[in-house]
Amino acid sequence: MKILKFGGTSVGSPQRMKDVCKLICDGQTKIVVLSAMSGTTNALVEIADYIAKHNPEAANNVINKLRNLYMQHVSELYATEEMAEATRKLLKEIFQHLHNLTAGGYTPSLEKEILAQGELMSTNMVTNYLLEQGVKVKLLPALDFMRIDGNGEPDMAFIKTEVKRQVSDNPNYELYITQGFICRNLEGEIDNLQRGGSDYTACLIGAVLGAEEIQIWTDIDGMHNNDPRFVPNTTPVRQLNFEEAAELAYFGAKILHPTCIQPARFAGVPVRLLNTMDPAAPGTIINNQMQQGTIKAVAAKDNITAIKIVSSRMLLATGFLRKVFEIFESHQTPVDMVTTSEVGVTLTIDNTAHLAAITEELKKYGTVETDENMCIICVVGDLRWGNVGFETMVTEALSHIPVRMISYGGSNHNISLLVREADKKETLCALSQKLFQ
Ligand code: ASP
Ligand code: MG
Repeated sequence: MKILKFGGTSVGSPQRMKDVCKLICDGQTKIVVLSAMSGTTNALVEIADYIAKHNPEAANNVINKLRNLYMQHVSELYATEEMAEATRKLLKEIFQHLHNLTAGGYTPSLEKEILAQGELMSTNMVTNYLLEQGVKVKLLPALDFMRIDGNGEPDMAFIKTEVKRQVSDNPNYELYITQGFICRNLEGEIDNLQRGGSDYTACLIGAVLGAEEIQIWTDIDGMHNNDPRFVPNTTPVRQLNFEEAAELAYFGAKILHPTCIQPARFAGVPVRLLNTMDPAAPGTIINNQMQQGTIKAVAAKDNITAIKIVSSRMLLATGFLRKVFEIFESHQTPVDMVTTSEVGVTLTIDNTAHLAAITEELKKYGTVETDENMCIICVVGDLRWGNVGFETMVTEALSHIPVRMISYGGSNHNISLLVREADKKETLCALSQKLFQ
């Protein structure tokens, strides 16, 4: 069985929903994971924000606008008045529920319940459309089988049992539709897998079922070898190893949710990235294979701050790095890049919420300097150290750009460079020129 996920833009209008339905009805049984229609989750966040700011009136205005939009969608989507009316009734109940939620005070779990409504609406709309078309389709409620544990991590054992139960309790359907992103937590409350988490849902389902393939359908032709927003003439990468894909997803390639690759990788289920606007295009396949001796892609991650700690006490000392890292850990601030010398260390972070406190504590160990508005450029491919020449190509490409840090050898797949955000476009272009032309 294949698991297919369609993102917000792929179901972003009644016409797009119809296109998706055409695409998924090929006679093969599959599970289809859907996001909310594009723009909806943002609108739901806005509603929750207004409730948090004690402004229910503004929240209700957003709800009304959204309801009008959805009523319009319904009138465009269905051929029969019966199905349109049935869907209208269902959506009206959801909007009424949203109105009711604005009456109480804000809590984080209230926000999560509000955010969940987008996927509940899109999946019901698509399921009803398919039913109208005479397709044997079953809507599987994600809230019954997706669960996170006390650490916010997916409860794989539970998900496995419950997904299997859902499918075996509902045999002989051609299509199973379910919601991406939403789940329950240990307390049984509605929760989610973080923004963009529908990819994660699809990969979790694919992993626990040992699916034949997980397909992530978006509006771009697979993972590109550089960021098309900054670099002209980028091309899709046909194949990536799981680890290469994880590095690219983390370091900026927006097409894939960074954590979603892990479950697929552990289960050995290939992930294919495909384009709804051009379904025949081959896209990108992510699997266990490692293409030898090639550089695959370049990606960039903005809003990076570099922190340098220089201390003569580091010389020949043990435990220095541990103390430094402990400070970041105590402030729940993940570190991305690290470079060290005998008298100093520089690290990068992207969450600066606790920067002032971190800097204060670091001063106990040496002089501290920070550089803000930096950008990590990540070059991904077969970069094992036996492959001579790749580092030279990368540094040669950047001979005219000031490079603040270089990290090589951390894994077999990555060279990371830190440059100023102002030099990002030039860096990406220079690397494309050197590595791919
Ligand atoms: N609808 C959610 C979001 O916009 C989840 C997703 O699209 O993957 O973040
Ligand atoms: Mg998305």
